[in-house]
Amino acid sequence: MRQNSFFKNPFKSKDSLLLLVVIVIFCVPILASYNPATQLDVIKRQGELRIITRLSPTTYFVSNGEHDGFEYELAKLYANYLGVKLKISTASDIQEIYEALRLNNAHIATAGLTQTAERQQRFDFSPPYHTGQTQLVYLKKKKNKAPKTYQDLKGGSLMVMSNSSHSELLRSLDPGIESWQESSELEVLDLMEAVHDGKLDYTLVDSSDFAANSFFFPRLGIAFSFANPQPIAWMLKKRSDGSLKRSLDKFFSIPHTKNEIKRLQNKYFQSGQRLNLVDNLTFRKHLRERLPALKDWFQEAAQQTGIDWQMLAAIGYQESHWNPKAVSPTGVRGIMMLTRDTAKEVGVKKRTDPQQSIMGGARYFSQQKSRLPKRIQEPDRTWLALATYNVGRGHLEDARILTQRAGMNPDRWDDVAKHLPLLSQARWYKTVKHGYARGREPVTYVRNIRRYIKQLKLETRIQAVQAAQAIQQAESEAASEAPTQAPETLPETL
Ligand code: GLU
Repeated sequence: MRQNSFFKNPFKSKDSLLLLVVIVIFCVPILASYNPATQLDVIKRQGELRIITRLSPTTYFVSNGEHDGFEYELAKLYANYLGVKLKISTASDIQEIYEALRLNNAHIATAGLTQTAERQQRFDFSPPYHTGQTQLVYLKKKKNKAPKTYQDLKGGSLMVMSNSSHSELLRSLDPGIESWQESSELEVLDLMEAVHDGKLDYTLVDSSDFAANSFFFPRLGIAFSFANPQPIAWMLKKRSDGSLKRSLDKFFSIPHTKNEIKRLQNKYFQSGQRLNLVDNLTFRKHLRERLPALKDWFQEAAQQTGIDWQMLAAIGYQESHWNPKAVSPTGVRGIMMLTRDTAKEVGVKKRTDPQQSIMGGARYFSQQKSRLPKRIQEPDRTWLALATYNVGRGHLEDARILTQRAGMNPDRWDDVAKHLPLLSQARWYKTVKHGYARGREPVTYVRNIRRYIKQLKLETRIQAVQAAQAIQQAESEAASEAPTQAPETLPETL
């Protein structure tokens, strides 16, 4: 067989030598600049960031078809920063999160996860965006003394989520606790509910979760907090190229990200002013028993007036506790407690008809809002209009004049609220046009309504999470009955 002269002795042939020189000249710079695509390059090229999260009121949920939750909003911000789409999947337990990262089905776990010592050996973390504590939660009731340390728990049942930071904490205690259990079926909300219903003595919860969810479980208390701080961060697979981690470090250091985190913490974690225990229990009873019959009308009135339905429902609750037959000694009546004159003005014939009352109240409130000077911005505009609903326009105007005289801002609710109570003192009300008014009332009125709105929004959030959890559970039950299929895994380089 004839052999190619190049392979016999390449350097004997002049042409071959020339060819080799050409190849070297072209290839060396190419090889020198060869840089395999980083994980971040691939994410950008594919235009998709895949995250895995947990369904909970503080992480991710879908409410009225809209994605919501602290982790969702923050992840969306990061996806926008990268200029890619966000793809979300939810895990029903923490093990599933570990698996999703291991199999590259998700790039990042954005799930309220604590940066623990054990996890740090297996995963990388973004900079922490929140640092809290782990708290021991118990049921506040007579004869149920709060334990002072974990050594007082002897005999009581204690359960935490399996693979959670809490189970790691319990395993690390020395001396340890004799018996405690982990569950891969129960989420934070379920564990809190089990303690609240007396089915479980204790659970451990992140302080941020307790603050956000305790409205729903008003009888729960914190017995004590464990001292070690718990940084919460995004978790990702350890990789040699480190590109995603570097990008996260940068993203979390940007002032805009820091400001957004503050805003989101206020939105999702701040417990704020809450109803006291009795008011909370009554409110939740009425939520179950009275609101369902009225909700459609609040929503209809919201559509017609452009006012949020939860705002209208909160006004209705403050006015009548959603009792259509409510009557006050001054003769106001119905869900929205309209006077006879106001009812006439807004076209209400029968004040005790809940539908008419809600529609009339919504119209009246909307009128009050539109009559305020245009320059007044939200949310002050809403609070001032609410005060008018309660005390009337004339008295509110008087309080705004007193506010201005004191050198404060009559367009800001907080400033006006300081001057409304003066309307019951002669030395002040004698100096204004409409005279005496029980000025403290509108201040309490607005404060209560703000609390009810907050409670309604929390309630909606928790209902959305529970609905999503039920779907997730049904899907996983259906999947476990279906013939098994190999999970779709993506190449290691992604
Ligand atoms: N921070 C917990 C963890 O990292 C999960 C959230 C919770 O239990 O409240 O496992």
